[in-house]
Amino acid sequence: MNIFEQVESQVRSYSRSFPTVFSTAKNARLQSRDGRSYIDFLAGAGTLNYGHNNDLLKQPLLDYIQADGITHGLDMYTEAKEGFLQAFQKIIMKPRDMNYKVQFTGPTGTNAVEVALKIARKAKERTGIVSFTNGYHGCTLGSQAVTGNKGQRKGAVVSLGDVTRIPYDDYGDEDDDFMGLKLLDQMLSDPGSGVEVPAGVIAETVQGEGGMTAARMSWLQQLESLCRKHDMLLIIDDIQAGCGRTGTFFSFEPAGIKPDIVTLSKSLSGYGLPFAVTLLRPDLDLWDPAEHNGTFRGNNLAFVTARVALEEYWQDDKFAQQIKQKAEILEKRFSGIVDRFDADMKLKGRGMMRGIATPSGEIAGQICKEAFANGLAVETSGSWSEVVKCLCPLTIPEEDLNEGLDILENAFASVLS
Ligand code: PMP
Repeated sequence: MNIFEQVESQVRSYSRSFPTVFSTAKNARLQSRDGRSYIDFLAGAGTLNYGHNNDLLKQPLLDYIQADGITHGLDMYTEAKEGFLQAFQKIIMKPRDMNYKVQFTGPTGTNAVEVALKIARKAKERTGIVSFTNGYHGCTLGSQAVTGNKGQRKGAVVSLGDVTRIPYDDYGDEDDDFMGLKLLDQMLSDPGSGVEVPAGVIAETVQGEGGMTAARMSWLQQLESLCRKHDMLLIIDDIQAGCGRTGTFFSFEPAGIKPDIVTLSKSLSGYGLPFAVTLLRPDLDLWDPAEHNGTFRGNNLAFVTARVALEEYWQDDKFAQQIKQKAEILEKRFSGIVDRFDADMKLKGRGMMRGIATPSGEIAGQICKEAFANGLAVETSGSWSEVVKCLCPLTIPEEDLNEGLDILENAFASVLS
């Protein structure tokens, strides 16, 4: 039995995709125990927008631990919590003219989605939720019920309940005239349709797990108007696309929309620590005591790193400019790959959340395997795992980005030529 067969006989793991043992990592580079270096185009499924072991965040974290800072305070008001809330208010919400109550949910993204769904239902005293084809919102029962992919739902036999799925309109299709939204509007406007008005609509601005499909800004604006017209709450799940991934702190900023509820997690702590929040329009803070709690709401170590990440990266627009520059490199190189090979491929995504749709899951898998053999960790997404997905740290140095892209392009060449 080799090490991987041994490990897999004991635990549920994904080591088969990356057949090595990783030991250390810095920014966008991973080191394996056997001394190899890999460029990281995964960034912990989007949790490491500021890279691995970012020194700017590490030192304050070490200082906090060294000073016996509180590690678990639950509902106590701690200095770490205060620091995060003040920074979030001052650096993120105030300049954007946003007014949300921050609810610390359980440790991970799916917990933030549960809060969003529950409070929407409570606020509107309706049970229905609209979600989109290929949307991904997590693996607890509620969040999985609004997840599109049947394959992901079938294991838990998650009931569709009061969830209505409508097509996610892809910005890449120029002739797409937002059929999904039009149909929903028609059904909700006509009493004869028999369709009850749902409590809310949940959407990603770029579907990460669904295949890096980006919504057009005009689609997001139309979605917001539809929510206003029919008195539904607009929930934007910014767990993967948020925290700068698409170029702005919130991915929906360029659309100028004001969601009623926003979920954030993944890169919010900045250091890969478990942390999730749901932002609620203040009048939606309708919980009665004990209606939604959980032992690991708000991680004090994550408060520390999250505060520093906001202070270091979001006080001015320097970081956003750097993201823009690297996003341009990515777009250019990815378009080049799409054009170079005589295959049915498509550029997907927005900002530094990019992908290439290949003709099949098998091809995309082979490309990732080939890339890994040559020093690049990259994975797939999409309904058929057909999209090669790039989520590198936003702090990746341009040399590493270009080197990773060279490896990726060579992998496409060796699989497709
Ligand atoms: N929403 C989105 C958009 C996500 O991408 C994910 C995770 N991939 C989740 C929710 C669930 O987050 P978690 O895995 O941390 O529960």
